[in-house]
Amino acid sequence: MKVKKPVLLKNVLIMHDNPVKIGITTRDAGNFRMSDKNFWINMFNISNHRAIQSGKFNFMKPEHETRIRSIKENNIDHFSGDGLFYKHQDRFVAMIHCSHITISKGIIFKTFNNIKSFVSIDKLNAFIYPGICQDCYEVREDVIQKFQDHSKCFKNHKSDSSKKMMDIAKIIHEQVFKSGIHDKNINTIKTCSAHTVISYTPAFYSWRARKETSRNLIFVKLPNSEKLLCSNTGDCPYLFLYK
Ligand SMILES: [Zn+2]
Repeated sequence: MKVKKPVLLKNVLIMHDNPVKIGITTRDAGNFRMSDKNFWINMFNISNHRAIQSGKFNFMKPEHETRIRSIKENNIDHFSGDGLFYKHQDRFVAMIHCSHITISKGIIFKTFNNIKSFVSIDKLNAFIYPGICQDCYEVREDVIQKFQDHSKCFKNHKSDSSKKMMDIAKIIHEQVFKSGIHDKNINTIKTCSAHTVISYTPAFYSWRARKETSRNLIFVKLPNSEKLLCSNTGDCPYLFLYK
C-alpha cells in the first residue's frame, strides 16, 4: 500500500490525480447535502477554482444499505444508495460508501461480485479515503463482533484500555486485498475527518468530533469524461476502484 500526500486547492483536497481524479471538499466549501440549495452554488464555485470541472454529475446520497447502481452515459441524476459504478471508453470507476454498517453487510465483496464479469479485478487500482482514524474511532462491542475476521484492526485506547478503537480503513484494505487487488495498487492518504486541521481549523465536518451534521462532498472524475460522480460523507471512509 502507498500512502500519498494530498494536494490542497481552494476548498478541495485532491487526494489522487493520475489518471483518475479523486477529491473531497474541506469545510471551507460549505455543507453538501442533496436537499441543500447551496449545493448548486458551491458546485459552481468549485468549478470556478478549477479544482473540479463538470457539467454533468451523479450525486449519491448514502443510506447505509448495500444498494449498488451502474451509471449510464449522459443521464444526470440523484440516487440513494451506497455504491455506484461507471464505465467510460476503456475506463472504469466504482465509488463505495464504507461505513461499519455497509461493510458488515458485505458491500465491498458485493461490489467485486457485481463488476467481475466485465472488469479484470487484478488490473484494478484501489484508493481509500480513510474517513475517521483509529485514534479517534471508539466502537462498541456489537461492532467489534461484526468484524471478528479483522482482529488486527482493533487496539485499546492509549490511556483507557476499556475503550476499543477500530481502524476502519485497514478493514477496507484487508477486504480489497482479499478480493484480488495487488497491495502495490492500493493507495490511501493520511487524513482524519475528526482531527486533521488546515490553518488551525478542522479540515472536515465530523459528527464524532464536533457533533456536526454538515457533510463533505467527495468526488471522482475519469479522464476524458465530463461526468462527476459524487457523494457526501462525515466520518465514513470511501473506497474507489478504478482503471
Ligand atoms: Zn483522527
